[in-house]
Amino acid sequence: MNATSFVIPPPPQASIAVAGESGAFPVRRIWCVGRNYLEHIREMGNDERAPPFFFAKQPDMLEADGATIPYPPLTKDLHHEVELIVAMKSGGLNIPPGEALDHVYGYGVGIDLTRRDLQLAARSSGRPWDAGKAFDESAPISPIRRAGEVGHPGKGSIWLKVNGETRQSADLEQLIWPVPDVIVHLSKLFALKAGDLIYTGTPAGVGPLVRGDRVEGAVIGVGEISLRIAD
Ligand code: MN
Repeated sequence: MNATSFVIPPPPQASIAVAGESGAFPVRRIWCVGRNYLEHIREMGNDERAPPFFFAKQPDMLEADGATIPYPPLTKDLHHEVELIVAMKSGGLNIPPGEALDHVYGYGVGIDLTRRDLQLAARSSGRPWDAGKAFDESAPISPIRRAGEVGHPGKGSIWLKVNGETRQSADLEQLIWPVPDVIVHLSKLFALKAGDLIYTGTPAGVGPLVRGDRVEGAVIGVGEISLRIAD
């Protein structure tokens, strides 16, 4: 259905800055990989051999680099998860492995903020993860770097610091499902399209954030992100 006028003002198009470009990257959907680094699967007590699975956040949950984010409601255990993010310029259903990277516009680094207590309560009761994962301001992201500039990173340091202290430190080559595999698996479930983002999963070292924390994350060669949790 194409509407030419609206009964209330339409919501704004979510977008992310692109390094070196005056135009922004428009965001359609946000996908996240559940488990993609062995040490993180072990620290959470999950099955090491399971195929990747996916959950979603909403585009209006994105927060730009440098944001101050309020401590979210109804949680006592807000966690950080630093992740490499893929930005799609095209897509399709059942994308062949050899073509997966052709659909990538670029990469960023972000933090999959998680209300861990709500996520684990949902997990143990067999309920959806949304309240634990997809909440307001839960998707901080750096500016996107074009693949034409940074290539397709298959290795390189990924880390996160809280108040200057390293909490997460790993290498992209430890991804169980590298970016092409993630795209192949995800495109079996959903037709990917231009504007889709994929948070590719976090390494070990996830942990709590408290009010006033300063958080920095990076993927070397791709970008950096910082945020603060409001007092
Ligand atoms: Mn995550």
